[in-house]
Amino acid sequence: MSAADNLCKRRVVALCGGIGGAKLALGLSRLLGGDLMVVVNTGDDFDHLGLAISPDLDTVMYTLAGLDDPQRGWGRRDETWTFMAALAALGGETWFALGDGDLATHVERTRRRAAGETLSAVTADFCRRLGIAARVLPMSDDGVRTRLRTDAGWLDFQDYFVRRRCAPRVLEVTYDGAASARPHADVLAALADPRLRAVVICPSNPFLSIEPILAVAGLREAIAHAAAPVTAVSPIIGARAVKGPTAKMMSELGVEVSATAVARRYRDLLDGYVLDRADAGEAAELGIPVTAAHTLMASLTDREELARQVLASADALTKATA
Ligand code: GDP
Repeated sequence: MSAADNLCKRRVVALCGGIGGAKLALGLSRLLGGDLMVVVNTGDDFDHLGLAISPDLDTVMYTLAGLDDPQRGWGRRDETWTFMAALAALGGETWFALGDGDLATHVERTRRRAAGETLSAVTADFCRRLGIAARVLPMSDDGVRTRLRTDAGWLDFQDYFVRRRCAPRVLEVTYDGAASARPHADVLAALADPRLRAVVICPSNPFLSIEPILAVAGLREAIAHAAAPVTAVSPIIGARAVKGPTAKMMSELGVEVSATAVARRYRDLLDGYVLDRADAGEAAELGIPVTAAHTLMASLTDREELARQVLASADALTKATA
């Protein structure tokens, strides 16, 4: 392949969950704009108070639109809570917090879904209205539900994650409906496009964000056959998760808590791996090029810089095989 061919390979497909994934997706979107497609986990989606809630899609959408709350890590910034206070006063269910602005997203999504629009169509229109250049897609328009077998029995995802604050010990994770869920045709087309530049697996929880996406029928195979390098970024830095239950789940499921162990879970797909400088030297056993970078994305500059390095490492893989 010539250098000119390489320049024509523009589109990047990123797989991501919520908080960690959205940070890198923002960095990528600032470099790539409309050349970025973000495929988002919907295994956490659920119906609550009669509303269709898609937590990871909303985190990605708010983050790319600059509406996210960087302190909380979910929901919208400058949020007000009149609805929750009024709901509590009436004895309603308050374990899942819904800010007033966020509530509008769920109400409107629910109305459109009930009128027959697909989740991907609703998401595309919301993103357009919020000025997001990247294409954001749910991993499937078909319902997939992440469920966990724990020492407190089988739990729905939000019951485990929010209501019980990840306290139960996890013994098994399943993605109900994934085997019969279909990926969006545009995702399959992007992955099959010979001009695809890279597939990026964002630093998201492997069990709760990335593996539900890979479990959607045909998606793992489509990624494996993509005509572009597949590279992942570790969500584990120095044997710890930056946020959330990733490390706790890894040890409960008998998986070593390390950047290497995360990469091992996608080893069949990976052409390259980006891990933190704190873990330099890890993952050598995988036999793929490993890049050590500053992967803690505290600032916007961190996000852009990591995105730049991820793309540079993917482009180097393309050149190496050209
Ligand atoms: P969730 O769906 O909201 O849980 O979000 P994700 O699955 O996308 O992200 C959770 C993961 O992101 C955790 O494993 C964190 O360790 C990881 N994470 C969060 N912030 C960062 C960061 O700045 N850098 C890296 N490398 N990982 C991060």
